[in-house]
Amino acid sequence: MKHDFLWDKAKKTLKETEPSHAYSTWFEPIGSIGLSGDTLILEVPNQFFFEWIQSHHKETIEKGVFKANGGEINIKYTVSPDGEGEEPTNQTKTNWQTKPQTQRQKNKNINDKYTFASFIQGGHNQFAKAAALNVSETPGQQSFNPLVIYGGVGMGKTHLLHAIGNKITEESPEKKVVCASSEKFTLDFISSIQKNRTVEFSKSYRIADVLLIDDIQFFQGKEQTQEQFFHTFNELFQSGKQIVMTADRYPGEMIGLQDRLLSRFKSGLSVDIQPPDFETRVAIVMEKAEVNGLKLPYDIIELIGTHIKKNVRDLESTIIRLLAHSSLSNREIDYGLAKKVIKERIGSSAISDLSIEDIVRRVSETTHIKEKEIVGASRKMEIAEARQISIYLCREILGTPLVSIGMHFGGRDHSTVLHACRVVENKTKKDQRISALVGELKNELSFALN
Ligand code: ADP
Ligand code: MG
Repeated sequence: MKHDFLWDKAKKTLKETEPSHAYSTWFEPIGSIGLSGDTLILEVPNQFFFEWIQSHHKETIEKGVFKANGGEINIKYTVSPDGEGEEPTNQTKTNWQTKPQTQRQKNKNINDKYTFASFIQGGHNQFAKAAALNVSETPGQQSFNPLVIYGGVGMGKTHLLHAIGNKITEESPEKKVVCASSEKFTLDFISSIQKNRTVEFSKSYRIADVLLIDDIQFFQGKEQTQEQFFHTFNELFQSGKQIVMTADRYPGEMIGLQDRLLSRFKSGLSVDIQPPDFETRVAIVMEKAEVNGLKLPYDIIELIGTHIKKNVRDLESTIIRLLAHSSLSNREIDYGLAKKVIKERIGSSAISDLSIEDIVRRVSETTHIKEKEIVGASRKMEIAEARQISIYLCREILGTPLVSIGMHFGGRDHSTVLHACRVVENKTKKDQRISALVGELKNELSFALN
């Protein structure tokens, strides 16, 4: 029997026996890529998926395949070479393993998932990405050396650093890329002292054509290590080798680092990464959902993007939690589940059960203007005013994204929504009647939140 035929047959059985959301989340995305002797090789979208089905659906899959095959058969899994737009090579297809994380590792200190292709660009990281790309195309160029990428936790600094490493390794395999966190550098140094191998230690870093050091803030207060790093830095720098570092803040603001080290760090280019803006967060959620084999409706994507604001790592883990919740509770990922997961992450006060409809209803009761008119197109003054107040309250109380508000109010675009919010804001400052009305509604509705 051909492998794809066998797997299709097994999937049909699973589709009949498993709940439909479980089927579409965990079985549908699995593909078959070959039959090797008495082993069927299945391909899953990512490592998380692999671990999840190993612990939750292993036997179900085995039973399904057993039934389709009409007898014993082994199953092995491989993780799909990730969605970086390249076709899976023959090598990755045949080099399957049960523990696939060791696939295609060229440099064990560089994570091959962190590439430029999988890095989503937005206003907050545009400059950092451009600088990183530039450095990987022309490493060692004076004005970008050293390059320091700095910013808060989970902003993508490590991702960019490794992307540089991956690109250079791929395009110039002859170049030696050395990549380490500053902690690893420190540990390597300490253990070299213990073992009397400091010469080897120095050498292992000084042979680099490109030196990538993550999180240099951990050098703070470690005088001896800083001394070592200073020498490594100078030697590489003087021979025109590229150095890239990441840090949690602008190098000039770091305490506990020697001045001479800081002035070296500042002599090149320092670029920061800011927290992602709303549009970028939505783009990231879409991408991460897709990578995790998860189809999310747009309103859920926006809900996540609206409420999980701080960093990209949180966005990613929210999606993973959603997957886990859906599977544990045997429930489709719907708006309610998404809300629940978000509440767990950010605390229930930050996200409400109140809906846009509730707000419109309340405004309608107070102003005696019909709900239909409030969300409609009329430009009559009192109707437009009730509409603007409703829009303002949705934004203020629910924190609903402008786009979603616009959709609820007759498909208005986000600039109209923004305009309405500004109008009301101004009026509350000047017009007592409006200010009292808005204040009252706001109190009442906010009270309904708790
Ligand atoms: P940092 O080093 O700044 O703390 P990381 O580079 O470890 O942050 O990023 C945290 C997670 O978020 C990683 O899984 C990374 O792939 C992902 N990530 C961060 N920024 C982006 C981005 N712009 N596009 C795609 N993924 C991102
Ligand atoms: Mg990092």
